[in-house]
This record gives sequence, structure tokens and C-alpha cells, in this order.
Amino acid sequence: MLYSSTRGNDGARSAAYIIKNGIAADGGLFVPDSIPSIDEGFINGLTDLSYAERAEKVLSLFLTDYTAEELRAAAEAAYSSERWGDNAAPIAKAGNNNVLELWHGPTSAFKDMALQIMPRLLSLSLDKCGEEKDALILVATSGDTGKAALAGYADVPRVRIQVFYPSEGVSAIQKLQMATQEGGNVSVCAIKGNFDDAQSAVKRIFTSAEAARMVDSHGLFFSSANSINWGRLAPQIVYYISAYCDMVKSGAVKMGAPMNVTVPTGNFGNILAAYIAKQMGLPIGKLVCASNSNNILTDFFNTGVYDRRRPFYTTISPSMDILISSNLERLLYFALGAEKCRSLMESLRDDGVFSVDEDTRKALGSDFVGLHCSEDDTYATIGRYFKDYGYLCDPHTAVALYCADLYVKESGDTTPMVVASTASPYKFPRAVLSAMGGDVPAEDFDCVAALEAISGVTAPANLSALRSKAVRFDKVIDKAEIDGQVEEFAAKAL
Ligand SMILES: *Cc1c(COP(=O)(O)O)cnc(C)c1O
Repeated sequence: MLYSSTRGNDGARSAAYIIKNGIAADGGLFVPDSIPSIDEGFINGLTDLSYAERAEKVLSLFLTDYTAEELRAAAEAAYSSERWGDNAAPIAKAGNNNVLELWHGPTSAFKDMALQIMPRLLSLSLDKCGEEKDALILVATSGDTGKAALAGYADVPRVRIQVFYPSEGVSAIQKLQMATQEGGNVSVCAIKGNFDDAQSAVKRIFTSAEAARMVDSHGLFFSSANSINWGRLAPQIVYYISAYCDMVKSGAVKMGAPMNVTVPTGNFGNILAAYIAKQMGLPIGKLVCASNSNNILTDFFNTGVYDRRRPFYTTISPSMDILISSNLERLLYFALGAEKCRSLMESLRDDGVFSVDEDTRKALGSDFVGLHCSEDDTYATIGRYFKDYGYLCDPHTAVALYCADLYVKESGDTTPMVVASTASPYKFPRAVLSAMGGDVPAEDFDCVAALEAISGVTAPANLSALRSKAVRFDKVIDKAEIDGQVEEFAAKAL
């Protein structure tokens, strides 16, 4: 399996190469040259396997230059029961929805699903590619990626990682998760700005020849842990296939019959993985793209116009506070090809807007439905799901549950619905507690305790442990200082 850029000017790359480098030389994102197909026999073959074994089988279809043994060892280590409990991606029932809980990993965010295995794939890729330099990973995060990447890469040999997050855009718990990260090869900085500022700066540095020379002089090269890296996307395909197996196993769907999927969406990585699973042949009907008040994707699917010239809202679902959904580029490539994709990305960069024609919009609409959920409805949904179904959810999951229910109400489509649940409610205890109508104490950890008391659900141990950890990183910088920070960290002797 070979990979090419969505913008057409970098191609025939191996999986190891694209995982190592993250982004294509022409600024595009790597995509596989063909999508492997799966059939009922393949799905049947997975049903009795563990999550790690399912991951090995699915990843081997895409990462053909990794051996089955390598993928098996990486998956077993990444999805071990010590890290995840018995089931890495269990499905809970809440009302009519089947909630695919993707946050039972070490940082209580769905990004662990990819970021526990990706460092192992990167380590292997350095040898496979004969790379002599070490990797410097730059991460722009709206909260969850940063911690999940830090946890995945901490003390991985031949890798160092620098994380940037918007200083006012993440919850106090998320901030503490990053600020207390251990490991000799990690660095964390808050920036004065929003997530798009951080992401744009990181993308610019990735493609800057000058920055590449600078890190090269320190024996390093840039790599990415954001979902622009295919090494993030591929492991996310696994859990949709795994969920289908579990839905069949529990009798919630008949083998071969479709399920719908709703995904709370920010950078469009998670829902793109579901789309790819569908392209592979997994029986998926509609993909409901759920957004918060930053509903740029809702508008795109409804009008064909993607216009980032709009107000940016800071919400209680901060991982979805995004106006440039990077992975939409991959969907545009699949729908329209590299040349058209490149020109749309140029319009976005130069004018802040692009549009697709009505035929394309209609074609996308056969797979995707764009819906969004206001802040008020997010709060109300958290409260209602607990009251009606005893199900405690985080604000991102609440956005998805609201949109899933709205979709069913508007369409009358009663295909079994799987809703991706992307974070533990205890990562956002303040918002969740206030949605439940509780008094909200000033301190986040007191919110955790209050929430435990009301709900009877215990907070994940990794979050409770934060309270007694020492803060290692408290630097806040201007956007203009991001380049300087990268240089300082690259020059640092570890
Ligand atoms: C990252 C994240 C999302 C958005 O996922 P994308 O792949 O960026 O669309 C949603 N919810 C949570 C909790 C996240 O951390």
C-alpha cells in the first residue's frame, strides 16, 4: 500500500515514511492510493478476537510495510488491559443510542485510542526508513491531543515532543494534565490565542525550509502527532469495525445490516475514520457530523460553502472549537481528486472560504449529515441523559447525543445508531456538574467530588491523581514567540 498527498505533488510513499514525516512535502495530507475492502467473512473473523487482535488485522490492511508480528506487538502493548481495562472500546446503551466509549485509556480521552499505538509505529518507522536523526514532534492541541500525545510519547527513545495549547481554551483539568506531564523529552507551552492560531503556526513551521534546517542542525527532523498524521487516522478506523462486531455480537444489528454513526467533530479526523471504514465496506448508513456552536461543518454539508470568516466561539466542548477542520481536506480529495483539492485549500488559505458545486454537495450528502448543538442544548442534554437514562456524559458526547436524536427526529431513520463518546465526563467536571444542576464549587477537583456524589460514578484514577502532582510547565507565550520556543527546545540537550 502506497500513499500520496491530497495536493498531488508528493507520492508513492510507504506507510513508515508517512508516519515518520506526518505531512506531505507540498503541504497536503497523505492518503492511501486505494482503500482496502473488507467483507462479511473478514468481519466474522474479528468477532471473537480481542480489541488488540482486531487492531492488528485492520491495521495490516493499511500498514503493509509493517509485519504482522510488529503490528501485533504494538497493538498488544497499546491496548493492554492494564491501560484500558477489559474492553478498550465498550458500548453502553443510553436511550436508543449505542454509546461507543472511547475514553477508557490512560488520559481519559478518545485520542488515546490512536496515541497509545502511534509512538510504537513511529519508533518502528525510524528503523524501517533508515532515519538517523531523532524526531521532534510538534503538537497544536485544543486540549485532549496534547495530553494524549505527551502520555504516548513520554520517554520514547529518539523522540522529543513540544505541545502548544490555547491558554484560555482548555479546562483546568486539561491544563493540569499537560502541565504535570512527566518525562525527559517533553515540553509544554500555553499560547495567547485560540486553537487555530496554534495549529496554523505548527503547520507553517512543518513546511518551512528554514525551520527544517534549524532542527536539522540539532540532529532532528519534524514529525506530527496531530490527526494530519495518517498514523492517527488508521488506528481510529479500527474502533468502528470493532463496534460493528460488538453490535452484531450483542444482536443490536444483524450481520450485513447497516448501523448509523454520530461523531462529535472538530478536526474531522474521527468521523473521517468512520467514513473510510464505510468505504472499506463496513455496513454504515449515515455519518452524522455533530458540531457545537462553531458549526462551520454543518453549514458546509448543508450549503456546500466552507467559510471560516465567522465568529469563533469558546464553548464547553473545547475540542470542537475549530474553524479549520484539517481532515476535511482528505474527504475533499476522495470526492474531487488532488488538483481540485489543492485549489480549494488555496482558496481557504488566501480568501478564508471555498465552495463545492451542488453535485458534489449532494454526493457528500449521501454519506454525511451535518447537525449542530447550541451551548444551552449541550447543558440540557447532559442533564436529560442523566435524568432519563442514568447516563453521565461529557459535553462533547452530549453534542453528539443531541445531534443523533435530532437526526432521528428529522429523518425518521431508525437504523441502529452508534454515538462516539470522546471523553470522560470527569475531564470537564465544572460544565457537567452545572448541567446536572448542582452547586458548582470554585475548584475543579471539588467539582469532581461533587459529581461523584451526585452520579455514583467514580472518576478515572488518572484524573484523581493529578491533584497531588507537581506542575512542571507554566510558560505562556505570544503566537509570535512559537518559532523561538521550538528553536529553544530543539537546541536543548536532553
Ligand atoms: C479531539 C476531540 C474531538 C474531535 O475529534 P476530531 O477527530 O478532531 O474531529 C471530539 N471530542 C473530544 C473529547 C476530543 O478530544
